[in-house]
Amino acid sequence: MQIHCTYCGSPLNISRKQAEAALDVLHENGLAYYEIRCPRCRKMNKIPREMLRRAAPRWQPKEGQ
Ligand SMILES: [Zn+2]
Repeated sequence: MQIHCTYCGSPLNISRKQAEAALDVLHENGLAYYEIRCPRCRKMNKIPREMLRRAAPRWQPKEGQ
């Protein structure tokens, strides 16, 4: 998945593996957004959970949490 930085427009790549790891964090902490830092301007970009689900459609919440 590729998004563009909200602040400088620089492309940010999120691999499926990264998206899955992000969804785990969101799920465990009850968050709606995952934040990634832009390598160019170093600002934090909020990635909505829904967008991550599209990048990692096979992700499932872990059992027993
Ligand atoms: Zn940026």
